[in-house]
Amino acid sequence: MVSIGVIQARAQSRTIVVDAGHGGVDRGGVPGQRVGEKQLTLDVAQRLRSVLEDRGYSVVMTRDNDEFISLGTRVAIANAHPDATFVSVHFNSASRRGANGIETYYYRSDSARLAANIHRHVVAGAPTENRGIRRRAYYVLRRTSIPGVLVECGFLTNPYEASYAVSASYRQKLAEEIARGIQRVPPPRIRPLAASSTVSTEVLSQPLLGPDFVRAIPASRRSSKSSKSSRSSSSSSRKKKSSSSKSTKKSSSSSKKKTSSED
Ligand SMILES: [Zn+2]
Repeated sequence: MVSIGVIQARAQSRTIVVDAGHGGVDRGGVPGQRVGEKQLTLDVAQRLRSVLEDRGYSVVMTRDNDEFISLGTRVAIANAHPDATFVSVHFNSASRRGANGIETYYYRSDSARLAANIHRHVVAGAPTENRGIRRRAYYVLRRTSIPGVLVECGFLTNPYEASYAVSASYRQKLAEEIARGIQRVPPPRIRPLAASSTVSTEVLSQPLLGPDFVRAIPASRRSSKSSKSSRSSSSSSRKKKSSSSKSTKKSSSSSKKKTSSED
């Protein structure tokens, strides 16, 4: 157990490990995706670094060019900075073109408020849906020993969101909103959760949703009503897992085999 005081002290971290999702052979997204993910995550991450450095933070990048960095290495970089906060930047993808919106993930309970603050800022600055804050054990969130948040800055498979994502001014806006969240600037009133979303933005200490958090519920139990949003979020989980099969395998226990078949 960590005392509230410790949590607050950690929240004031002045070092941010900025993690640009994917890179090199790991392009991110889904096969055949028109707008690629890896270069956009890097661009937002680099913009985020500039904004944060202007505001007096010191920033460590897990990658600063188009190279493959394993999830294990990303975690090692984060864990080498015990007083830092880890922020991972991704864009989402789904087989369903209509899937859209912003999602923010955390795993450690000391990261919930940070996730909420970043999420509210990003959603406020994005012309899209609020898909909620979700607690998921993504490798980079589960294995990091510092507070960490992963932001999905919209769906590149959605033509409308992709058209924003390819604009430099919008990526700058994303970086500035993430930075405001990191700085704990009080967020504006958030828009309501998307009707199709199955998660809450308000409940901060959500229970974990499954053994390896690829799907909220097994596919066979999903009703057609809830399948829309589950499908798109499971595809984003899958791509993260597959980006480091080596490190994911190591952490997969037999109880997780079922969800690993998503790979
Ligand atoms: Zn990604």
